[in-house]
Amino acid sequence: CGIVGYIGSRQAQDVLISGLAKLEYRGYDSAGVAIRNGTHIEVKKKAGKLANLSTLLEGTPLTGTLGIGHTRWATHGLPNDSNAHPHATEDGRIVIIHNGIIENYLTLKAGLIERGHSFKSETDSEVLAHLIEEAYSGDLYEAVRTALGQVRGAYGIVVTHVDHREIVAARTVSPLVMGVGEGEMFLASDVPALLPYTRKMVFLHDGDMVVLHDDGFRITDLAGNAVQRDIEHIDWD
Ligand code: GLU
Repeated sequence: CGIVGYIGSRQAQDVLISGLAKLEYRGYDSAGVAIRNGTHIEVKKKAGKLANLSTLLEGTPLTGTLGIGHTRWATHGLPNDSNAHPHATEDGRIVIIHNGIIENYLTLKAGLIERGHSFKSETDSEVLAHLIEEAYSGDLYEAVRTALGQVRGAYGIVVTHVDHREIVAARTVSPLVMGVGEGEMFLASDVPALLPYTRKMVFLHDGDMVVLHDDGFRITDLAGNAVQRDIEHIDWD
């Protein structure tokens, strides 16, 4: 339902929680964040209001300047802690969040289980983490692109890998907007999450993929061809 991503020099947790709060009006049933801090990616997620997640984080705040956050509106699987996003691979090295519905997830899941993957949630979304893991051989963007070639449905997806200081994202049907800062980059499913940080935004189109770094971004289509998108200046509140 709601998506926020951050890479830069601020503490990511603050940007994610404040951004998700700005998206609360859309409705949701659970919330979670994942923060990368060099040697690992820490995931915290909780059913219920964003306040439940904030309480969980208050005791032990996550440090790190790259992170992704999600508020879930359950379509597949109960609204409980384990079905909340982000979803990680078994080794915890790849972490994803997803908006939308993967229509062929049952077939994909059956194949993945046959090939030795085990699942921690009942969501359609979790197949994405396993498909990316299977396709990964050093290049996260290429792995995400290969995985998306296998899925049918609607998605806004945001992906991190412990070995890469970058965020890879893509959308089909579900909206994604990128915020362009100075030495920092943002992602969200809707503009209000980004307004406190930047007015320079790029609205991703259907079938766009993007790789975010601290100081820039690269957009392609799902076939891997470079795509040019304008940076727009948002001057409303
Ligand atoms: N289909 C996914 C799930 O049920 C994502 C739902 C959403 O868009 O929040 O977990």
